Amino acid sequence: MQFVEPIWSKFKLETHESTLMEKFLFRIAKQWIAGNTASEALQSAKTANKNGMNAIINKLGEHMTAKDQINDTVSEYLALVLNLHKFKIYGGISVKPTQVGLSKSIEECTNNLKKIIEESTSSQSFVWIDMESSEYTDDTIKIYLNLFERYERIGIAIQANLKRTEQDVKMLLEHGAKIRLVKGAYRESKKNAYKIRHEVDENYRKLIKMLFSCGNEFAIATHDYTMIELAMNLSKKYERKFEFQMLKGIRDELKPVLIKKGFVVSEYIPYGTNWLPYSIRRLKERKRNILLLGSSFLHSHRV
Ligand SMILES: Cc1cc2nc3c(=O)[nH]c(=O)nc-3n(C[C@H](O)[C@H](O)[C@H](O)COP(=O)(O)OP(=O)(O)OC[C@H]3O[C@@H](n4cnc5c(N)ncnc54)[C@H](O)[C@@H]3O)c2cc1C
Repeated sequence: MQFVEPIWSKFKLETHESTLMEKFLFRIAKQWIAGNTASEALQSAKTANKNGMNAIINKLGEHMTAKDQINDTVSEYLALVLNLHKFKIYGGISVKPTQVGLSKSIEECTNNLKKIIEESTSSQSFVWIDMESSEYTDDTIKIYLNLFERYERIGIAIQANLKRTEQDVKMLLEHGAKIRLVKGAYRESKKNAYKIRHEVDENYRKLIKMLFSCGNEFAIATHDYTMIELAMNLSKKYERKFEFQMLKGIRDELKPVLIKKGFVVSEYIPYGTNWLPYSIRRLKERKRNILLLGSSFLHSHRV
Protein backbone atom coordinates (compact mmCIF):
# COMPACT_ATOMS: atom_id res chain seq x y z
CA MET A 1 0.00 0.00 0.00
CA GLN A 2 1.29 3.42 -0.92
CA PHE A 3 1.57 5.98 1.83
CA VAL A 4 -0.24 9.16 0.90
CA GLU A 5 1.23 12.21 2.52
CA PRO A 6 -1.46 14.49 3.92
CA ILE A 7 -1.74 17.65 1.88
CA TRP A 8 -1.30 19.88 4.92
CA SER A 9 2.11 18.43 5.80
CA LYS A 10 3.39 19.30 2.32
CA PHE A 11 1.99 22.79 2.68
CA LYS A 12 3.69 23.16 6.04
CA LEU A 13 7.06 22.17 4.58
CA GLU A 14 6.73 24.58 1.68
CA THR A 15 5.70 27.40 3.98
CA HIS A 16 8.66 26.68 6.24
CA GLU A 17 11.05 26.61 3.28
CA SER A 18 9.69 29.78 1.77
CA THR A 19 9.86 31.54 5.14
CA LEU A 20 13.50 30.51 5.46
CA MET A 21 14.27 31.69 1.94
CA GLU A 22 12.49 34.99 2.58
CA LYS A 23 14.44 35.49 5.80
CA PHE A 24 17.69 34.79 3.97
CA LEU A 25 16.89 37.19 1.11
CA PHE A 26 15.74 39.86 3.56
CA ARG A 27 19.11 39.63 5.30
CA ILE A 28 20.80 40.43 1.96
CA ALA A 29 18.25 43.15 1.10
CA LYS A 30 18.67 44.82 4.48
CA GLN A 31 21.91 46.47 3.34
CA TRP A 32 19.92 48.47 0.75
CA ILE A 33 16.65 49.14 2.57
CA ALA A 34 15.80 50.70 5.92
CA GLY A 35 13.34 47.96 6.88
CA ASN A 36 9.64 47.23 6.53
CA THR A 37 8.24 50.30 8.24
CA ALA A 38 8.16 54.09 7.91
CA SER A 39 9.63 54.49 11.40
CA GLU A 40 12.66 52.42 10.35
CA ALA A 41 13.02 54.70 7.31
CA LEU A 42 12.90 57.79 9.55
CA GLN A 43 15.51 56.23 11.82
CA SER A 44 17.74 55.52 8.83
CA ALA A 45 17.20 59.10 7.59
CA LYS A 46 18.29 60.42 11.00
CA THR A 47 21.46 58.34 10.74
CA ALA A 48 22.10 59.72 7.23
CA ASN A 49 21.78 63.28 8.65
CA LYS A 50 24.11 62.38 11.50
CA ASN A 51 26.65 61.22 8.89
CA GLY A 52 26.41 64.55 7.08
CA MET A 53 23.96 63.54 4.32
CA ASN A 54 20.45 64.61 3.41
CA ALA A 55 17.91 61.80 3.28
CA ILE A 56 15.51 60.94 0.47
CA ILE A 57 12.90 58.42 1.60
CA ASN A 58 11.07 56.18 -0.86
CA LYS A 59 8.30 53.74 -0.07
CA LEU A 60 8.85 50.63 -2.17
CA GLY A 61 6.16 49.44 -4.57
CA GLU A 62 4.89 50.38 -8.00
CA HIS A 63 2.07 49.82 -10.51
CA MET A 64 -0.72 50.27 -8.00
CA THR A 65 -4.26 50.29 -9.33
CA ALA A 66 -6.44 49.53 -6.29
CA LYS A 67 -7.96 52.71 -4.86
CA ASP A 68 -7.27 51.72 -1.23
CA GLN A 69 -3.66 50.89 -1.96
CA ILE A 70 -3.07 54.22 -3.74
CA ASN A 71 -4.80 56.19 -0.96
CA ASP A 72 -2.79 54.37 1.71
CA THR A 73 0.44 55.18 -0.13
CA VAL A 74 -0.49 58.86 -0.40
CA SER A 75 -1.36 58.94 3.33
CA GLU A 76 1.94 57.28 4.17
CA TYR A 77 3.91 59.88 2.19
CA LEU A 78 1.93 62.66 3.90
CA ALA A 79 2.77 61.21 7.31
CA LEU A 80 6.43 60.81 6.29
CA VAL A 81 6.70 64.45 5.28
CA LEU A 82 5.11 65.57 8.57
CA ASN A 83 7.52 63.39 10.52
CA LEU A 84 10.56 64.64 8.60
CA HIS A 85 9.54 68.11 9.75
CA LYS A 86 8.66 67.03 13.29
CA PHE A 87 11.99 65.27 13.85
CA LYS A 88 13.96 67.98 12.02
CA ILE A 89 15.30 65.55 9.42
CA TYR A 90 16.85 67.21 6.37
CA GLY A 91 15.91 65.95 2.94
CA GLY A 92 12.65 64.80 1.44
CA ILE A 93 10.91 61.98 -0.33
CA SER A 94 10.97 60.31 -3.73
CA VAL A 95 7.73 59.07 -5.24
CA LYS A 96 7.11 56.69 -8.14
CA PRO A 97 4.21 58.01 -10.26
CA THR A 98 2.61 54.55 -10.56
CA GLN A 99 2.45 54.31 -6.74
CA VAL A 100 0.12 57.27 -6.65
CA GLY A 101 -2.17 56.64 -9.61
CA LEU A 102 -0.33 56.89 -12.94
CA SER A 103 -1.33 53.32 -13.80
CA LYS A 104 -4.92 54.65 -13.67
CA SER A 105 -4.78 58.19 -15.05
CA ILE A 106 -2.63 61.30 -15.35
CA GLU A 107 -5.28 63.29 -13.42
CA GLU A 108 -5.30 60.93 -10.45
CA CYS A 109 -1.51 60.90 -10.27
CA THR A 110 -1.29 64.71 -10.57
CA ASN A 111 -3.89 65.27 -7.83
CA ASN A 112 -2.18 62.86 -5.47
CA LEU A 113 1.25 64.35 -6.09
CA LYS A 114 -0.24 67.81 -5.55
CA LYS A 115 -1.47 66.77 -2.07
CA ILE A 116 1.96 65.39 -1.20
CA ILE A 117 3.83 68.42 -2.58
CA GLU A 118 1.58 70.88 -0.73
CA GLU A 119 2.30 69.15 2.56
CA SER A 120 6.01 69.01 1.72
CA THR A 121 6.10 72.69 0.86
CA SER A 122 4.68 73.64 4.24
CA SER A 123 7.06 71.14 5.91
CA GLN A 124 10.02 72.46 3.89
CA SER A 125 11.02 69.16 2.38
CA PHE A 126 11.81 68.35 -1.23
CA VAL A 127 9.83 65.97 -3.46
CA TRP A 128 11.59 63.99 -6.17
CA ILE A 129 9.60 62.18 -8.83
CA ASP A 130 11.25 58.89 -9.75
CA MET A 131 11.28 57.89 -13.40
CA GLU A 132 9.91 54.43 -14.24
CA SER A 133 10.01 52.46 -17.50
CA SER A 134 9.81 54.36 -20.82
CA GLU A 135 6.07 53.82 -21.31
CA TYR A 136 5.62 56.38 -18.50
CA THR A 137 8.26 58.93 -19.54
CA ASP A 138 5.96 61.28 -21.50
CA ASP A 139 3.28 61.33 -18.80
CA THR A 140 5.80 61.74 -15.98
CA ILE A 141 7.44 64.73 -17.68
CA LYS A 142 4.02 66.24 -18.44
CA ILE A 143 2.92 65.86 -14.80
CA TYR A 144 6.21 67.28 -13.54
CA LEU A 145 6.06 70.38 -15.76
CA ASN A 146 2.45 70.98 -14.81
CA LEU A 147 3.29 70.85 -11.09
CA PHE A 148 6.57 72.74 -11.47
CA GLU A 149 4.61 75.77 -12.70
CA ARG A 150 3.14 76.00 -9.20
CA TYR A 151 5.64 74.38 -6.87
CA GLU A 152 9.33 75.08 -6.66
CA ARG A 153 10.74 72.32 -4.49
CA ILE A 154 10.21 69.39 -6.82
CA GLY A 155 12.58 67.49 -9.07
CA ILE A 156 12.40 64.78 -11.71
CA ALA A 157 14.65 61.78 -12.42
CA ILE A 158 15.89 61.44 -16.00
CA GLN A 159 17.56 58.33 -17.45
CA ALA A 160 20.73 58.43 -19.53
CA ASN A 161 20.05 55.04 -21.11
CA LEU A 162 17.10 56.43 -23.11
CA LYS A 163 17.85 57.84 -26.56
CA ARG A 164 15.24 60.59 -26.12
CA THR A 165 16.83 61.96 -22.96
CA GLU A 166 19.14 64.55 -24.53
CA GLN A 167 16.08 66.28 -26.04
CA ASP A 168 14.15 65.93 -22.78
CA VAL A 169 16.98 67.49 -20.79
CA LYS A 170 17.23 70.40 -23.25
CA MET A 171 13.51 71.05 -22.98
CA LEU A 172 13.40 70.58 -19.20
CA LEU A 173 16.34 72.96 -18.69
CA GLU A 174 14.52 75.61 -20.72
CA HIS A 175 11.79 75.38 -18.05
CA GLY A 176 14.38 75.62 -15.25
CA ALA A 177 13.56 72.07 -14.13
CA LYS A 178 15.42 70.38 -11.28
CA ILE A 179 16.86 67.19 -12.67
CA ARG A 180 18.24 64.05 -11.05
CA LEU A 181 20.44 62.32 -13.61
CA VAL A 182 20.51 58.51 -13.37
CA LYS A 183 21.73 55.80 -15.76
CA GLY A 184 18.36 54.02 -15.77
CA ALA A 185 17.27 50.89 -13.95
CA TYR A 186 14.65 49.44 -16.31
CA ARG A 187 15.01 46.96 -19.15
CA GLU A 188 14.25 48.85 -22.37
CA SER A 189 14.08 47.97 -26.05
CA LYS A 190 16.92 48.61 -28.48
CA LYS A 191 14.66 51.06 -30.28
CA ASN A 192 14.30 53.33 -27.23
CA ALA A 193 17.49 52.79 -25.34
CA TYR A 194 21.26 52.45 -25.45
CA LYS A 195 21.92 48.84 -24.56
CA ILE A 196 25.70 48.81 -24.38
CA ARG A 197 27.26 50.01 -21.15
CA HIS A 198 29.79 52.38 -22.75
CA GLU A 199 27.02 54.02 -24.83
CA VAL A 200 25.00 54.70 -21.67
CA ASP A 201 28.13 56.05 -19.97
CA GLU A 202 28.91 58.27 -22.95
CA ASN A 203 25.41 59.71 -22.85
CA TYR A 204 25.60 60.16 -19.08
CA ARG A 205 28.83 62.16 -19.56
CA LYS A 206 27.21 64.32 -22.24
CA LEU A 207 24.21 64.99 -19.99
CA ILE A 208 26.39 65.89 -16.99
CA LYS A 209 28.07 68.51 -19.19
CA MET A 210 24.66 69.87 -20.26
CA LEU A 211 23.55 70.13 -16.63
CA PHE A 212 26.67 72.02 -15.59
CA SER A 213 26.62 74.38 -18.56
CA CYS A 214 22.87 75.18 -18.62
CA GLY A 215 21.29 73.90 -15.38
CA ASN A 216 21.17 74.62 -11.69
CA GLU A 217 19.96 72.70 -8.64
CA PHE A 218 20.47 69.27 -10.14
CA ALA A 219 21.56 65.90 -8.79
CA ILE A 220 24.24 63.58 -10.11
CA ALA A 221 22.84 60.23 -8.95
CA THR A 222 25.41 57.54 -9.56
CA HIS A 223 27.97 55.33 -7.85
CA ASP A 224 30.25 55.47 -10.87
CA TYR A 225 33.44 57.21 -9.79
CA THR A 226 34.41 58.31 -13.31
CA MET A 227 31.10 60.24 -13.55
CA ILE A 228 31.52 61.65 -10.04
CA GLU A 229 35.05 62.77 -10.93
CA LEU A 230 33.78 64.47 -14.09
CA ALA A 231 31.15 66.33 -12.06
CA MET A 232 33.75 67.37 -9.47
CA ASN A 233 35.97 68.76 -12.24
CA LEU A 234 33.11 70.60 -13.93
CA SER A 235 32.11 72.12 -10.60
CA LYS A 236 35.45 73.96 -10.60
CA LYS A 237 34.56 75.62 -13.89
CA TYR A 238 30.84 76.24 -13.35
CA GLU A 239 29.54 77.49 -10.03
CA ARG A 240 26.34 75.50 -9.71
CA LYS A 241 24.11 74.32 -6.91
CA PHE A 242 24.14 70.55 -7.24
CA GLU A 243 24.41 67.43 -5.13
CA PHE A 244 25.54 63.86 -5.39
CA GLN A 245 22.91 61.24 -4.66
CA MET A 246 23.60 57.62 -3.86
CA LEU A 247 21.55 54.67 -2.73
CA LYS A 248 21.62 53.41 0.84
CA GLY A 249 24.20 50.67 1.26
CA ILE A 250 26.15 51.37 -1.94
CA ARG A 251 29.60 53.02 -2.06
CA ASP A 252 29.35 53.86 1.64
CA GLU A 253 33.11 54.46 1.74
CA LEU A 254 32.86 57.21 -0.91
CA LYS A 255 30.06 59.22 0.70
CA PRO A 256 32.16 60.67 3.59
CA VAL A 257 35.01 61.42 1.19
CA LEU A 258 32.73 63.61 -0.94
CA ILE A 259 31.28 65.30 2.14
CA LYS A 260 34.80 66.04 3.39
CA LYS A 261 35.59 67.67 0.06
CA GLY A 262 32.64 70.00 0.68
CA PHE A 263 30.04 68.44 -1.65
CA VAL A 264 26.40 67.93 -0.72
CA VAL A 265 25.47 64.23 -0.64
CA SER A 266 21.97 62.78 -0.32
CA GLU A 267 21.20 59.19 0.48
CA TYR A 268 18.18 57.52 -1.12
CA ILE A 269 16.54 55.34 1.52
CA PRO A 270 13.88 52.85 0.42
CA TYR A 271 11.67 50.97 2.86
CA GLY A 272 8.60 48.76 2.85
CA THR A 273 7.46 45.20 2.58
CA ASN A 274 7.80 45.27 -1.21
CA TRP A 275 11.59 45.01 -1.03
CA LEU A 276 12.19 42.05 -3.35
CA PRO A 277 12.06 43.66 -6.87
CA TYR A 278 14.21 46.59 -5.70
CA SER A 279 16.79 44.26 -4.17
CA ILE A 280 16.92 42.12 -7.30
CA ARG A 281 17.69 45.27 -9.35
CA ARG A 282 20.56 46.10 -6.99
CA LEU A 283 21.84 42.50 -7.11
CA LYS A 284 21.86 42.48 -10.90
CA GLU A 285 23.79 45.75 -11.08
CA ARG A 286 26.99 44.12 -9.96
CA LYS A 287 28.43 40.66 -10.53
CA ARG A 288 30.09 40.79 -7.11
CA ASN A 289 26.64 41.11 -5.53
CA ILE A 290 25.57 37.81 -7.09
CA LEU A 291 28.72 36.21 -5.67
CA LEU A 292 27.90 37.76 -2.31
CA LEU A 293 24.44 36.22 -2.50
CA GLY A 294 25.96 32.79 -3.28
CA SER A 295 28.53 32.89 -0.49
CA SER A 296 26.00 34.18 2.07
CA PHE A 297 23.67 31.36 1.09
CA LEU A 298 26.38 28.73 1.62
CA HIS A 299 27.35 30.36 4.89
CA SER A 300 23.80 30.47 6.17
CA HIS A 301 23.48 26.74 5.46
CA ARG A 302 26.62 25.95 7.40
CA VAL A 303 25.25 27.37 10.63
C1 LIG B 1 19.61 58.46 -5.76
C2 LIG B 1 19.27 57.56 -6.89
C3 LIG B 1 17.99 57.59 -7.42
C4 LIG B 1 17.66 56.78 -8.50
N1 LIG B 1 16.44 56.93 -9.09
C5 LIG B 1 16.16 56.24 -10.22
C6 LIG B 1 14.98 56.47 -10.95
O1 LIG B 1 14.14 57.30 -10.60
N2 LIG B 1 14.76 55.74 -12.08
C7 LIG B 1 15.68 54.83 -12.54
O2 LIG B 1 15.45 54.22 -13.58
N3 LIG B 1 16.80 54.57 -11.84
C8 LIG B 1 17.08 55.25 -10.71
N4 LIG B 1 18.25 55.02 -10.05
C9 LIG B 1 19.06 53.82 -10.38
C10 LIG B 1 20.03 54.08 -11.52
O3 LIG B 1 19.33 54.24 -12.72
C11 LIG B 1 21.02 52.91 -11.66
O4 LIG B 1 20.31 51.74 -11.91
C12 LIG B 1 21.90 52.68 -10.45
O5 LIG B 1 22.23 53.88 -9.83
C13 LIG B 1 23.21 51.99 -10.87
O6 LIG B 1 23.90 52.76 -11.80
P1 LIG B 1 25.22 53.61 -11.48
O7 LIG B 1 25.00 55.00 -11.99
O8 LIG B 1 25.56 53.55 -10.05
O9 LIG B 1 26.32 53.03 -12.41
P2 LIG B 1 26.81 51.54 -12.71
O10 LIG B 1 27.56 51.65 -13.99
O11 LIG B 1 25.72 50.55 -12.59
O12 LIG B 1 27.82 51.29 -11.53
C14 LIG B 1 29.04 52.00 -11.39
C15 LIG B 1 29.81 51.46 -10.21
O13 LIG B 1 29.10 51.73 -9.01
C16 LIG B 1 29.16 50.64 -8.12
N5 LIG B 1 27.81 50.03 -7.98
C17 LIG B 1 26.75 50.29 -8.75
N6 LIG B 1 25.69 49.57 -8.33
C18 LIG B 1 26.10 48.84 -7.30
C19 LIG B 1 25.46 47.91 -6.44
N7 LIG B 1 24.17 47.57 -6.58
N8 LIG B 1 26.19 47.35 -5.46
C20 LIG B 1 27.50 47.68 -5.30
N9 LIG B 1 28.15 48.55 -6.09
C21 LIG B 1 27.47 49.14 -7.06
C22 LIG B 1 30.14 49.67 -8.73
O14 LIG B 1 31.43 50.03 -8.30
C23 LIG B 1 29.98 49.95 -10.20
O15 LIG B 1 31.09 49.54 -10.96
C24 LIG B 1 18.61 55.85 -9.00
C25 LIG B 1 19.89 55.83 -8.47
C26 LIG B 1 20.25 56.65 -7.44
C27 LIG B 1 21.64 56.62 -6.93
